[in-house]
This record gives sequence, C-alpha cells and structure tokens, in this order.
Amino acid sequence: MTLTKVLFNNSPLSLRGLARLLSSVANPSAETTKLSSGYCFELTDEQKEYQALARKFTREEIIPIAQHHDKTGEYPEECVKKAWKLGLMNQNIPQKYGGAGIGIFDSCLIAEEIAYGCTGILTVLTSNCLGQAPVILAGNEEQKKKYLSRMVEEPLICAYCVTEPVAGSDVAGIKTKAEKKGDKWILNGQKMWITNGGKANWYFVLARSNPDPKCPASKAFTGFIVDANSPGVSFGRKEWNMGQRASDTRGVMFEDVEVPKENVLIGEGAGFKIAMGAFDMTRAPVAAGAVGLAQRAFNEATKYSLERKTFGNLIAEHQAVQFMLAEMAIGVETARLAWMRAAWEIDQGRRNTYWASIAKALASDVANKCATDAVQIFGGNGFNCEYPVEKLMRDAKIFQIYEGTSQIQRLIISKEHLMKAKETLM
Ligand SMILES: Cc1cc2nc3c(=O)[nH]c(=O)nc-3n(C[C@H](O)[C@H](O)[C@H](O)COP(=O)(O)OP(=O)(O)OC[C@H]3O[C@@H](n4cnc5c(N)ncnc54)[C@H](O)[C@@H]3O)c2cc1C
Repeated sequence: MTLTKVLFNNSPLSLRGLARLLSSVANPSAETTKLSSGYCFELTDEQKEYQALARKFTREEIIPIAQHHDKTGEYPEECVKKAWKLGLMNQNIPQKYGGAGIGIFDSCLIAEEIAYGCTGILTVLTSNCLGQAPVILAGNEEQKKKYLSRMVEEPLICAYCVTEPVAGSDVAGIKTKAEKKGDKWILNGQKMWITNGGKANWYFVLARSNPDPKCPASKAFTGFIVDANSPGVSFGRKEWNMGQRASDTRGVMFEDVEVPKENVLIGEGAGFKIAMGAFDMTRAPVAAGAVGLAQRAFNEATKYSLERKTFGNLIAEHQAVQFMLAEMAIGVETARLAWMRAAWEIDQGRRNTYWASIAKALASDVANKCATDAVQIFGGNGFNCEYPVEKLMRDAKIFQIYEGTSQIQRLIISKEHLMKAKETLM
C-alpha cells in the first residue's frame, strides 16, 4: 500500500510516523534527519510518496477552497488542521522532538505541490518553517524540547518577527530594543508584515541589545523566543494585501515584554547571524513555491491555448503563443533545478547561501513572468476574476519581496561570487 493510501485511509500513521519508520529501517542509527541521497535526477520512492501525498492533498483540500480564501481573506483554519494531521507542516522538526525530520529537498517537493493549489495557503502552512528555523539552527536542548515538540503535539503556529516599519531589507536598521534587567530581558518595539502574526503561539524576535551605533551588526542584536501570550504582546489588524490573501500578515507590538533569559538563542549578540542563517533553510522552499505557481500558470495557459480559437486556428498554433509557452517551459524547468541544487546543498550539510539566493531570485522572476504571460494568453478572460490566472499574477508578486527582495538576492549572489573569485581567480 502506498503512503498516500495509508494516510488517506485514516490510518494512524502520519508523514511523521512514516518518515521515522522508513528511516529506522534504512539507517537505524540516524538520529534526526534523513538526507536526500546523491546528485541524481530520479526521486526516491519515498520522495515520490511525499510528492503524491502533497499533490493529492492539494487537489482535494486546497484547490476547492483557494478562491474562497482569496476573495474573503478568511484564514484557512480547517485546512491548517488537516495539513498538520497529515504531517504536511513542520516537516523539518527533528525526529528527536517528534517531527518527521525530513530534509529541505523533500520539504521543497511538498511546497511545490501545495503552491500549485494556492500560494497564499502555502505561505500559511510553511511560515512555521521560517519561525522554527532559528530554533532548529540555534536552540539548546531545552528550547527545542519546549518550543518544537509542542508544534507536533498540537496544530500550533509560530512566526518570524524581524521586519519593522522602518527596516526590511536593511535588517541592521531595526529599532526594537532589548534591555537586560536581572534574569530577564525587556523588549520594546514594533514589527511589521509578520506572516501568521495574529495566529502564532510563539515568535522568534530579533531585537537590538547593544545600543552603541558603532557596534557591528554581528554583535548588536539578540534573538529571542517570545510566547505570544506574554503580557505586552499585541498585534494589529490583518493587512489586505495584493495577493496571497489567505495568509495572515500583521504588525506585532512589544511593550515592556519580559522574556526570561532561558529564551535567548545562543547568547547575547548572536541574533543577526541566526536570523540571516534561517534563510539558508527557507529560501529553497520559497523558490519551490514560486515554481509551483509558475507550473500552474504554465498548465492553465497550455490548456486554454488548446481550447481557444482565433482566425480559424487554436491559439496554440500561433507561433507567438507557442513561444510564450516555450519561455514558460524554460523558466519552470530551470527554476526547479535551481531550488533542487540549493536544497541538496544544505541537505549535504554545506553552506548554501549562494545557491539559495540564486534559486529564490530566479524562481520569483519566473513565477511573475509565467503568471503575466498566462494572463496574456487568456486575453480579456485573463484579466477577469472568474478565471484562475489573475489570482496567480497577484499572488506571484510577493515572491520578489518577502524573505529578501530580488535586489537583495542579487546583492548576496554577487557578494558570494566575488568573495570566491578573490580566492580562486586572483
Ligand atoms: C506579505 C508579506 C509577508 C511578510 N512576512 C514576513 C515575516 O513573516 N517576517 C518578517 O520579518 N518579515 C516579513 N515580511 C517583510 C519582508 O521580508 C520585507 O517587506 C522585505 O524584506 C522588504 O523590506 P521593506 O518592505 O522594508 O522594503 P525596503 O527594504 O524598504 O526596500 C524597498 C525597495 O528598495 C530595494 N532596496 C533596498 N535596499 C537595497 C539595496 N541595498 N540595493 C538595491 N535595492 C535595495 C528593495 O529591493 C525594494 O525594491 C513580509 C512582507 C510581506 C509583504
């Protein structure tokens, strides 16, 4: 029986259970994480099962509700619970803390499938990975037990709070203050554009702990885990965004919030590196999401071009339309290879910053180009809300903005490239 059948037949086995079972058979000594094997274009049977499970969930549970959540902005609460139950959330939590402990490559496979159905819902489901990444990377045993384990015991949400009204790309410009008072830290400040900001059980928060403007970013900031029910934490209204409207984006405020010293990640001054390091884990999945959207635009445009006739011919027979489809194919296939490389690198335990930024920049641009061209191929219908492609065009835009804008990705790529060039070419 396949994994998809097991899970959909109400078996008590979730993706988490199956991942643990399979990994103990394959490698009884594997403690937490199963890595994707080899540089190979063939998925393993297990990866095909993850993909099939996510595809089935997307077809049955996401596509039917996507338009409703886009129109109303209503949070997809039930969908979150179902995805959580199947293990389609929190997949990177190590097995030691109750998670599936699957690698980034495998969670990208899942993200691409879910994105095909609705990237707003994808953002809701996967932003837990962003909130958890600092804890997975830098948390101590107690912190991991306390904050990761609970995510697999209940369908809880967490959020990553870095951006502020005054600073997004320029992370070192954030103003949220952390002051040490005895055994506690006191946080004051305001975060902005926080995905799942109004739904979270706990937050990763980056704050300035060294007020000296001369202190380098690598030492001036501290990363905290903050319980959302701490006195002094509040959040603003849900923002009405251009796209991905199922997702909950809000401002989050911290007013004299007491955080115990046990909730500091690594130690005072380590926050900037932790906050930036998290993106090495999350940018490949974001790129995979962009590819899922691009694939959907490509498929919708292809189907339409094989139905619509002009001047006595199917529009797919006009070379101008064929070339738009060809460009989409080039974009989708190469962007998919880019997220695969970025995810594979980190699963091998190597720093993937360069690859992750390439994947994120390329896939975001491809998603926007594919969605825009899909609207073009649909003609007037493409501009209308009753057809699927206008939503894709609105949803695509954020991929060039969140988790580092496309300009910032290019800054990272060129910095990494020049650093290496100085070592190897000079
Ligand atoms: C829907 C949504 C969800 C989000 N979710 C989260 C979240 O969960 N957590 C979180 O912390 N943040 C989140 N963000 C914030 C997001 O990461 C920031 O919006 C993004 O990093 C850009 O920052 P900014 O909006 O301040 O733009 P700015 O930094 O002000 O940039 C404005 C423009 O200037 C360009 N620019 C800036 N600096 C440079 C430079 N040095 N060189 C070239 N160009 C430059 C940018 O690329 C951009 O085009 C979210 C944002 C949105 C809209």
